[in-house]
Amino acid sequence: MSTHPIDFHPPTEEAPAFLLPKAGTLFAERADRFAVLARDHALSEWLDFLGKISAAQQYAQARLPALPLPDADTLARAQTHGMPPLDPAKRPALWREALRDIANALLPEAPEGASKALNALLAADDARLERLADALLVNGDIQEGDAAELPFIGAALQVVFTQLASQLAVSALQPMDAHNVCPCCGSPAVASVVRLGAAINNLRYLHCSLCNTEWNVARAVCTSCGNDKTVALHQLEGSDGRVRAETCDECHSTLKIVYQDKDPNVDPVADDLATLALDMLIDEAGYQRAGPNLLLIGAHSG
Ligand SMILES: [Zn+2]
Ligand SMILES: [Zn+2]
Repeated sequence: MSTHPIDFHPPTEEAPAFLLPKAGTLFAERADRFAVLARDHALSEWLDFLGKISAAQQYAQARLPALPLPDADTLARAQTHGMPPLDPAKRPALWREALRDIANALLPEAPEGASKALNALLAADDARLERLADALLVNGDIQEGDAAELPFIGAALQVVFTQLASQLAVSALQPMDAHNVCPCCGSPAVASVVRLGAAINNLRYLHCSLCNTEWNVARAVCTSCGNDKTVALHQLEGSDGRVRAETCDECHSTLKIVYQDKDPNVDPVADDLATLALDMLIDEAGYQRAGPNLLLIGAHSG
């Protein structure tokens, strides 16, 4: 592991504070990214299957109708109280339809363990599915037997919340007090990305673990506690620096940063999962991840 000094580039005025997801292409692009990352990787079979989950997410998204957004009163109340407009506790029931679409699309190519989980989800009643969604998004009450099923629950919830976020106007969003909280749905960030582009060159955006919205946060600031003194970046020995872990010695949290200038196709979710070795090193050094990757939760536990 090596440590690098941080380049600090202050945000420019024209840069957008928020980037809403493009639901029509996001999951297909992530599927492509997983396929690239799976090549010559020690976890190639797993990454390949994650790519298939992403492709199934795109299939499920394309079958969704436009979803009902919160009404004007709810949006106004959220603005007044500095709250995100979407609430993961209030899910459109159609997320269960998205889950069934994902399960049916994946079953023909799923490895044995995943097939078992997918069949159990297809057989589950609505109450059980809602309990699993609450465990993931609302109360964290994850039970041991749920582990294999949760990545698929997360995948379906990502589809509906990404669709909802893509339907919102950017004017419905406002910066949150906590850097790590999504201004669109209130979920924690999975990672951040330093983007290339005309107005956003070298700016850092946090990426929502649920709805795929991105929001600008200055570089060299801890996204969990806001401290800018004891933040450091680490990368695996021999790596090209495409993915680094940002650690904070004030609150002992960590979150990864991916860099578009090293590879324009980096994806905060896929590149995060392709660098689990970095998580292990940072975990051994005593830092705690600030946000989950919903395609991983449960997969390596229980
Ligand atoms: Zn979000
Ligand atoms: Zn911190």
